[in-house]
Amino acid sequence: MKKVILFDVDGTLVKAGGCGLKALNRAVVEFGGPDNICSKFELQGSTDRDNFNRAFICAFKRKPKEKEFLKLKKKYLEILPSEVNAAVNNKRYLKIKGVEKLLKFLSSQKDVFLGLATGNFQEGAYLKLAPSGLSHYFSFGGFGGDYEKREDMIESAVREAEKFLKCRSDEFQVYVIGDTEKDVQAAKAHGYHSGIVMDGFGHPERLRSNAPELISDNFSDMLPWLLWLGLKKDPKGVARGSYICPDTPIEHAYYGMTGIGSFLSPKDFKEMEDMIDRAKGRKQ
Ligand SMILES: [Mg+2]
Repeated sequence: MKKVILFDVDGTLVKAGGCGLKALNRAVVEFGGPDNICSKFELQGSTDRDNFNRAFICAFKRKPKEKEFLKLKKKYLEILPSEVNAAVNNKRYLKIKGVEKLLKFLSSQKDVFLGLATGNFQEGAYLKLAPSGLSHYFSFGGFGGDYEKREDMIESAVREAEKFLKCRSDEFQVYVIGDTEKDVQAAKAHGYHSGIVMDGFGHPERLRSNAPELISDNFSDMLPWLLWLGLKKDPKGVARGSYICPDTPIEHAYYGMTGIGSFLSPKDFKEMEDMIDRAKGRKQ
């Protein structure tokens, strides 16, 4: 089966030295708002639509009109390149360890297709990625300028994958790779696979409690990633689902779509959901 692998940007492919936060702070000041607005809320893992709305509310005590949102976005995108350059010059711009090797390998695989699923504006994502030289690995993407909810952004990435592959999403498996629990939650909202790189901006406890199928320090050891993606056979000969999540398989099939869940037809999956509901006493 074809595989679509969706990568988050910040903390997953690169760490861009906080250039997005700094550019948004500066854009709000140019808009007549107070300094350091991003100290008032957490940006990581949220979409730019959500972050810009929250920055505006913190600064001006109301939600921006669409015209104001677009003006703030324009200012941000004007400022962002200088902040990206500053991060590179100050050596605060880093690629996540091993990411280039993994992307190179994945892009050489038949029936594997790479896309972005990032909260950044599309223009912002490519500005942040530019110094890494990684942009060319991605053929499509979902971006956070149009969506407040990360799960809606992920779904737009899957729609773009359908257009690119010229097929429906039930003809491919979707794997989401990110660095915060919001990546996991957004993937699970649709029953997609979720893998987490710990080298980014996530909180270890929050990540573990959201139970992604795979947590790995970075990409320098490709083996756990390739096992999870089903691109390599498990050296111990253990079934993939139970190897990564060694507790009740039926719960994982339901919540995480790992192992058997990913191989069920929609009809079988519905039957399994009903069975779980009955077991939990929600249905007679
Ligand atoms: Mg991230």
